[in-house]
Amino acid sequence: MYIVHITTEFAGIAKAGGLGDVVHGLSREQQKSGHHVEIIIPKYDIMSYQRVQNFSLYEAHLWSFEDFHRYHNSVYRGFVDDVPVFFMEPHHSEYYFNRGQIYGCANDVERFLYFSRASLEFLYTQNKRPDIIHIHDWPTAAVAPLMKNLYSEIGFSSPGIVFTIHNLEHQGRCPPKNLTRVGLRGEEYRTETRMQDQNDPTQINLMKGGIVYADKITTVSPRYSEEIQTPEGGAGLHDVITKNKHKLTGILNGIDLEIWNPKTNRHLFAPYSTNPSKIDLIVKQKGENKKGLFDLLGLSKPEGPLVTCITRLALQKGPWLIQSAIHHTLRKGGAFILLGSTMDDELRKEFLHLKLHYASHPHLYISLDFDEGLANQIYAASDMMLIPSLFEPCGLTQMIAMRFGSIPVARKTGGLSDTVFDLDDPNVKPEEKTGFTFFHPHEKDMQETLDRAFHTYHAHHDAWKFLIKNVMQKDFGWKKASDAYDTVYQNIFSVAE
Ligand code: ADP
Repeated sequence: MYIVHITTEFAGIAKAGGLGDVVHGLSREQQKSGHHVEIIIPKYDIMSYQRVQNFSLYEAHLWSFEDFHRYHNSVYRGFVDDVPVFFMEPHHSEYYFNRGQIYGCANDVERFLYFSRASLEFLYTQNKRPDIIHIHDWPTAAVAPLMKNLYSEIGFSSPGIVFTIHNLEHQGRCPPKNLTRVGLRGEEYRTETRMQDQNDPTQINLMKGGIVYADKITTVSPRYSEEIQTPEGGAGLHDVITKNKHKLTGILNGIDLEIWNPKTNRHLFAPYSTNPSKIDLIVKQKGENKKGLFDLLGLSKPEGPLVTCITRLALQKGPWLIQSAIHHTLRKGGAFILLGSTMDDELRKEFLHLKLHYASHPHLYISLDFDEGLANQIYAASDMMLIPSLFEPCGLTQMIAMRFGSIPVARKTGGLSDTVFDLDDPNVKPEEKTGFTFFHPHEKDMQETLDRAFHTYHAHHDAWKFLIKNVMQKDFGWKKASDAYDTVYQNIFSVAE
């Protein structure tokens, strides 16, 4: 099949969170299994080109449309880990992608609507006719109505449109005129059955447009696909999702086992085996990584375990629980490393305050940066990784942590429920036990769970090693997910035929 992903992130060149990992890992696996895969992404000024091979101008004169004007774009092509990627560079007075960031601009809706339309124009004028156009979250959701109601009308033979919901929290709301600017009559879409926002009837909701107009919808874990059909988990869209549930499949994300590989990872102080039968060696080498990281960050060896957290700091991720876990870990003689990037000024202030409060504490390190190299070193050094999310569509950090033999301490929600199973739960088969979980997002429950993990770490070395073995044995590779996406793609055509 010929598959085109239209995306705002791609790991290795432009990533803000899991979406970038998913498009990268999935497309690589799809290519390995014989599909013809291409990526279209904005050419951001913050793009990292180290991993891009054979970068060159592909189309010097792509004309696209916005607000009844023609705009000139250049399209470049390069290969990232062998996957062909097209970089869309608008020559537009708004400098849409020269903002020093991927998201978080006042006009994100305009930026990504422009990109969605220009991407379709690129495929159309280049005579590229994919079987599947795969779009991701609200920024590229408008591709679905644009394809169905504009491009198919002008002779673009209809590809299957698959819309993956990575996170329902951000939905892309805008006045109807924004849709009009990219070629759809916005007011006509402001109806309940089309794209009218459920909270503000004067607005269009782009996420809803993806749900309504795509041929198939996927979410990034089976549990999340159930949660989003409920008022508690549907972020206002549960009704429209339930109406479209015949199109919906929950597919657990994978992780890229080549990239997240303790044996070959160039960032580690001491690369180590992934073979769980070498558990004693693994424990020893993880210890070397811990020492290397402590030296690098100026920490000293604690009595207790190293608890870590790698996250976007946003309300979704339970920041007050992270703060509480920091206090609790230090009280109990452990060390804590937090790598938490944030676009939220209030949260930034709170965590800077906490950092100041514990200034020069020998067992605490807080970075508010996005730092991939450091993230790798933390995964390898860590004993436990804390993930106290309020909701978590899939969550990758628990799977990456497991790959590195770090034990997740996680709240039971979304994809965390599908992957982390409590050591002390008598209903879980021994070989399925992968960590420690709590259900209520309250400090008390989380602290008790941390206490159980600390106790096992200190008092039951065999149980701890057993957990490390278990988690390292899990196969979180992309193959299973990629096969499941194949089925989703094929179902579009079997229904159409
Ligand atoms: P989300 O997509 O909601 O941010 P996920 O758990 O699905 O969360 O994916 C997070 C990805 O981003 C993981 O690859 C994680 O290692 C990475 N990540 C998150 N925060 C940081 C950070 N501050 N620095 C480096 N990598 C980070």
